[in-house]
Amino acid sequence: MHRGLIAPGALAVAFLLPAIPASAAGASPGAPGIGDPYYPAYGNGGYDVSHYDLRLKYRPDTDRLQGTATILARTTRDLSRFNLDFLLDVGEVRVNGAKASFTTSGEHELEVTPERPLRKGDPVTVVVRYSGVPSQQQAYGFTSWHRTPDGGVAANEPEAAWWWFPSNDHPLDKATYDVSVLVPDGTQAISNGTLQSTRSRLGWTRWNWRSAQPQASYLATLAVGRFDVTTGTTESGIPVVNAYSRDLGAHDGAARASVERTGEIADWLSEYFGPYPYDALGGYVPNTDTGYALETQTRPFYSPRQFADGSNVSVVVHELAHQWYGDLVSVRGWRDIWINEGFARYAQWLWSEHEGEGTAQELADHVYASRPADDPFWTVRPGDPGPENQFHLAVYDRGALALQALRNEIGDTAFFAVLKGWPRKYAHGNASVADFRRYAEEVSGKPLAALFDTWLYEPAKPSAPAARAASVATASPAAPVQPKSWRKIAATNGVHEH
Ligand SMILES: [Zn+2]
Repeated sequence: MHRGLIAPGALAVAFLLPAIPASAAGASPGAPGIGDPYYPAYGNGGYDVSHYDLRLKYRPDTDRLQGTATILARTTRDLSRFNLDFLLDVGEVRVNGAKASFTTSGEHELEVTPERPLRKGDPVTVVVRYSGVPSQQQAYGFTSWHRTPDGGVAANEPEAAWWWFPSNDHPLDKATYDVSVLVPDGTQAISNGTLQSTRSRLGWTRWNWRSAQPQASYLATLAVGRFDVTTGTTESGIPVVNAYSRDLGAHDGAARASVERTGEIADWLSEYFGPYPYDALGGYVPNTDTGYALETQTRPFYSPRQFADGSNVSVVVHELAHQWYGDLVSVRGWRDIWINEGFARYAQWLWSEHEGEGTAQELADHVYASRPADDPFWTVRPGDPGPENQFHLAVYDRGALALQALRNEIGDTAFFAVLKGWPRKYAHGNASVADFRRYAEEVSGKPLAALFDTWLYEPAKPSAPAARAASVATASPAAPVQPKSWRKIAATNGVHEH
């Protein structure tokens, strides 16, 4: 397959060597990965992106995507070459206006060699022109592009960007986004943030979306199809834009009865986590046959199947909780996934308590008591589950159980101060599980290493004395009562498929 070209200019570089500034003469290639031990090839080394400008054209009938990505970045070292993560066919790359040579390598690497080496600390503008059929592209044998009868959707974790724009694909490199998509009239293009404008001409409509606050690349989303778009404003004044595929069939009512409560839920969550962090809010339900939901920033993705049993507000609570825990404060490395999922699950427990369908304590007791010590569930360590178990149910349920143990250890006042203070402390940045432990210790004044070890890191069920010490399942450990909310919460478990 023809996927890259060495431009003739690359040969000329050798003759330009004497003109290279001394400070860049020792420049070497940037790393093909950002240094995440779970996913060594994800992200790239040597630069930091501040903004993506994506100007796209998409044809729903053929799934053909054409685009120009303009990437504003700054080098963090001298670079003779750097990588982007991308799968579609590239026609041209320019670096600071000059044509650059490029080739592909590995599963998803686009290697770019600028005409001249780049010096550390310099601003760099990279323009990539590309096209392709996203649904025909795979990496590691899977795709994150979901073709629908009326278009396509990019939403997955930890990788979704490769199918629609070149990026430094790791949460460590957040950036702002302008996403402008040209689609045939009558078709809608949904993305993150604020809809700045739409414009129609000659049978095509351009949708201009803006994410004005930093966003991780996996949280950027694109959905093209026939959508019904609803708008509103939360009580706290945040504009809400929701979108529903017009082909949701029997799931339509339940989907709307859930996602239309987005503003109410975001306001409710802000009592626990602090003010909602973004200037846009919403959710969308495309007609995919996927089973999961995803916390795409400001506008979560929901699969129709999540509404098969009627409305599911709990999944909305989960994805909106991620706007603080996952999006505003992102993992430092993918091993820190508990920082996202343990808290989003715990938010569902708080909602259950709010709805009178079982307290967080009862849900924690149920998780502990309903799984015997020989259940493989307990061999997964939520604090460092390994890439193969990154989205294992234990990261969610044992992860939330660990938070209840923490709450019982430090008391409600300190616990809720931690829940609210954390998003502010690391806003728009990244943090690790160890950072969270240190923060909880600082706020509560208690040493917590042993508690974290027992509930997050031991590959075994915490012992009965440990559970008693954490006030878990003390009432009737042999006969756990299943809280009313249990099945609804379990229905949100349709996590990752590849
Ligand atoms: Zn989640």
